Amino acid sequence: MMLRGRVVAAHGRQYVVELPDTTRLPCFPRGKKSEVACGDWVSLHKTSPDQGVIEAIEPRRSLLYRSNEFRQKLIAANADQIVIVAACEPVFFEDLITRALIAAETQDIASLIVLNKSDLTTLLPAARARLAALARLGYDILELSAQNDAASLRPALQGHTSVLVGQSGMGKSTLVNQLIPGAGAATREISTALDSGKHTTTHACLYHLDAESHLIDSPGLQEFGLAHLDRQTLEQSFREFRPWLGQCRFRNCRHDQEPDCALRDALAAGKIDAGRFASFLRLAGQASLS
Ligand code: GDP
Ligand code: ZN
Repeated sequence: MMLRGRVVAAHGRQYVVELPDTTRLPCFPRGKKSEVACGDWVSLHKTSPDQGVIEAIEPRRSLLYRSNEFRQKLIAANADQIVIVAACEPVFFEDLITRALIAAETQDIASLIVLNKSDLTTLLPAARARLAALARLGYDILELSAQNDAASLRPALQGHTSVLVGQSGMGKSTLVNQLIPGAGAATREISTALDSGKHTTTHACLYHLDAESHLIDSPGLQEFGLAHLDRQTLEQSFREFRPWLGQCRFRNCRHDQEPDCALRDALAAGKIDAGRFASFLRLAGQASLS
């Protein structure tokens, strides 16, 4: 008998699927190459009372993944929002935030930056300043102290499937534990089911906030490779570049050394932030774009 369920945990080729009666079943995908991600809706059948095989993946609203030149790794499926956790300390990597924002732009999903540890008031102005260029572009930034109270994040999560990303040390686990009491226990239970041998966050995990609101916690994203993006997609995902795209003298302008480059003109006129432009050139260089 074919069943329908949602993948609530993913670890390598092992998955936990939540069935309509809310029971959870460890599953393997059919075939060698797995393209199942946490958050996917799947059809499956039981091969034994406590194991299943995933037969098919339903069409997705979105798919987030990272890649380098060798392989790609799925982060989450069907999210409609990325919540990026930054903090007053340790120092966060701006490029990582930019990469997460690009991923959101390419999948046409919303994004929200959480600036955590706002209780560290002496460090707050500097962290704020580092995010100022993004704030000016219209990206939402919510300051909070996960340690004290994460409640201000709740309204932003309502009705969404949000994927939480951030480099380690930003307070992502603290935030998850505040929002989902029992998250630690649930993670341990899933680790046992997955038999991953070690708990903590080596796998992506979907939590229910309420019937319509879900949170996908993904392993710390130290790297968020975007090698799968072509040049045009990368340019488009810098939202403030859009008015100038297609206006350079050369159609295949790399916006680097070419004469009559509309983007560099906009930069010189102060219409594009220098830090953002530098990020773009770095990413374009790293992505070995066609
Ligand atoms: P993760 O690696 O992103 O999951 O980060 P953790 O949740 O493990 O937090 C990293 C460190 O930051 C821990 O020592 C936390 O106690 C601390 N931390 C988390 N949230 C806050 C906060 O709001 N304020 C302060 N001052 N420290 C925090
Ligand atoms: Zn150009």
